[in-house]
Amino acid sequence: MKHGAPFPFVQDAVLIGGGHAHALALRMFAMRPLPGLRLTLVNPGPAAPYTGMLPGLIAGHYRRDEIFIDLVRLARFAGAALVLDRATGIDPAAKRIHLSNRSPLAYDLCSIDIGIGSGLPGVPGADDHAVAAKPLGAYAEAWEAFLARRPETPHLVIVGAGVGGVELALASAHRLKGQGAKPQITLIDRAATALPQIGPAARARLMGELDRAGVTLRPGCELARVGAASVTLTTGETLRSDFTLLVAGGQPQPWLAESGLATRDGLLAVGPTLQTSDPAILAAGDCAHLSHAPRPKAGVFAVREAPVLAHNLRALASGGGLKTYQPQRDYLKLVSTGAKAAVADKFGLRAGGPWLWRLKDRIDRRFMARYQAG
Ligand SMILES: Cc1cc2nc3c(=O)[nH]c(=O)nc-3n(C[C@H](O)[C@H](O)[C@H](O)COP(=O)(O)OP(=O)(O)OC[C@H]3O[C@@H](n4cnc5c(N)ncnc54)[C@H](O)[C@@H]3O)c2cc1C
Repeated sequence: MKHGAPFPFVQDAVLIGGGHAHALALRMFAMRPLPGLRLTLVNPGPAAPYTGMLPGLIAGHYRRDEIFIDLVRLARFAGAALVLDRATGIDPAAKRIHLSNRSPLAYDLCSIDIGIGSGLPGVPGADDHAVAAKPLGAYAEAWEAFLARRPETPHLVIVGAGVGGVELALASAHRLKGQGAKPQITLIDRAATALPQIGPAARARLMGELDRAGVTLRPGCELARVGAASVTLTTGETLRSDFTLLVAGGQPQPWLAESGLATRDGLLAVGPTLQTSDPAILAAGDCAHLSHAPRPKAGVFAVREAPVLAHNLRALASGGGLKTYQPQRDYLKLVSTGAKAAVADKFGLRAGGPWLWRLKDRIDRRFMARYQAG
């Protein structure tokens, strides 16, 4: 509502993507609606997965419905319209969002929180024969299908030895062994060292976990080709692979760079107010590049951005000062290790064990419980 306007002035705020920042911002609007601001959420599906619990789903500790945020319920709670579609472009001059299946949506304010995908589009065969860890919904389905038809001794190649790749390798090993299989899992990465984002103490502990789980770590290896039952490395070496998982290769959606908005490596460049180069368009989560304080991609930043995002959308619609977001330097990383145990990493601390799994489980379930209300 504009200051001094006699009647509510309807403005349209369109939130593209049901990522973590938008899910939380919607919940904040549900608790404290702004009269005159009409909210619309655009997301391809009616639910959005919570990645913190994905390794637990792969390991068999969680059911599928436990890791998905119900966007239909959330939108209803926030009084927002939900458009089940995918944004394919944005025209900041005309204030129109292009969608894949319907006519463009007009907006006064827009926020983008669509994440990034994983995958290696330049690698022959990757699109046809490998499964990308993100989007997660498709991965979870492919994994369940694989478990139902897997061979006695399944060979897995997981590409990307960051935190996600290590967690998923350990989770896969745990699940397959639990089924009585004898998995052969190879974790490859083009970098010379695995787990670059983790402190040396926690890294050593996770290396030990990989070793105990029988996961073969192959740093310094690059994928040249993916086949139906094998992968070929750039050295020419071929590895059998019944399930090839790509956790590497953060892929921003190309339409962001084509929008005319300022981008960095394909991500929307935002300042401390989370505004892009167009002040009416904000961005948060993995698809945004924090120009003032770049950070690695992690859901924790999307979550912390949510209150600033909600406040600033409200302020831009109704007048008032904008808040700024200063990301924390470090955060507690809890890396699950297959069975119900986890390793913690913060400020070089090294701790691990079942109690950390219980802590992670409590944090994750508390996060998900916030969406059950309403
Ligand atoms: C295996 C794994 C484990 C991880 N574990 C952790 C962890 O423990 N802690 C942590 O902090 N981070 C973790 N991460 C990183 C975390 O997943 C991301 O940082 C986080 O999901 C980013 O959230 P987001 O809000 O950017 O969007 P996302 O969670 O990626 O959600 C994006 C949403 O936008 C929708 N969307 C996509 N494209 C469009 C479009 N064109 N139009 C409309 N909607 C669209 C998608 O369907 C989705 O609902 C992990 C990642 C992986 C791969």
